[in-house]
Amino acid sequence: MVMEEEILIKAQDKENKNEILLYLLKNKGNYVSGEELSEKLKVTRTAIWKHINVFKKLGYEIDSVPRLGYCLKNSPDLFIPEEIWKDDNIKFLGSKIYYFDTIGSTNEKAKILALEGAPHGTLVLSEKQTKGKGRLGRKWESPDKQGIWLSIILRPSLTPEEAPKITLITAVACAKAIREQGVNCAIKWPNDILYKEKKLAGILTEISAEMDKINHVVVGIGINVNTKSFPEELEDIATSLYLIKNEYIERVPLLLTFLKGFELYYSELEKGNFSEVLKEWKNLNCTLGRKVRIIGKNFEVEGEACDIDEFGALLIKKDDGTFERILSGDVSLR
Ligand code: ADP
Repeated sequence: MVMEEEILIKAQDKENKNEILLYLLKNKGNYVSGEELSEKLKVTRTAIWKHINVFKKLGYEIDSVPRLGYCLKNSPDLFIPEEIWKDDNIKFLGSKIYYFDTIGSTNEKAKILALEGAPHGTLVLSEKQTKGKGRLGRKWESPDKQGIWLSIILRPSLTPEEAPKITLITAVACAKAIREQGVNCAIKWPNDILYKEKKLAGILTEISAEMDKINHVVVGIGINVNTKSFPEELEDIATSLYLIKNEYIERVPLLLTFLKGFELYYSELEKGNFSEVLKEWKNLNCTLGRKVRIIGKNFEVEGEACDIDEFGALLIKKDDGTFERILSGDVSLR
């Protein structure tokens, strides 16, 4: 058996965060004295110095000036857990974070961790996926340090038939975070974020459920951030923020915006306010009102995409005037 390549950088609970790094991150651009750090965090000056050297090895640019102390000038834009924990507005996402240099697939890993009891809100992030997944076993191209390759473990109190709502709220959070970068993307039902018809991000929701109860949900998000070129077969269908804006985009702030949006819409969903999120989805989508062809497991439907219902299913008005309700399938926009 070939061992799956898997290089873990860190697996950490929020309670065990590195307070020194967190302090520097929260005071980025300002000097904090060794004395201040040592008093506030109850650590020795030698311990601080040792930690600072580790952070520097990770790529943090830290100035140390006698009498002034330490100043974090630049971060390496990696998904080091403290980069997420520095944002106090993120509440339940990242209670536990698994951060990999390389992994087969974050969703596959998250499913194993979920079965082993990983808590609600656990995040699995990797700089690169060697077997990134799309729907139906398709491949998701996930080059090293060029995108956000993330899976979230959720334990929602929803019924299994409500699970597609999670894909919809993820799409809204993802589209909104990308739009904050000035990129006018749109949601294509059910799981893609497009810019000018090219795929900028994709979502893969996988659930483990019994008849009337969800055990856990793993929602995978892949956002092409700084990808400069795609393999030939994807050139015409994929794009990245870098290719759209012609500039390097920092991944960490984009991730934080996405996580905050996700928490907001997820809490609305849990409170039973899904209709509010659905309104947002409708404002951001590029599927409704269009002629579409949908290919599903054992069917093919053509018609106009009229609406989505409160469960996230797509309503198609066929040419003969009858309606069909579609739960999943491959959509091509005509
Ligand atoms: P869809 O939702 O479009 O049916 P999937 O969710 O199955 O697509 O995603 C997998 C497909 O997306 C692949 O078959 C490939 O065509 C395309 N793809 C793979 N990697 C990327 C990427 N990084 N960016 C955009 N598209 C990709």
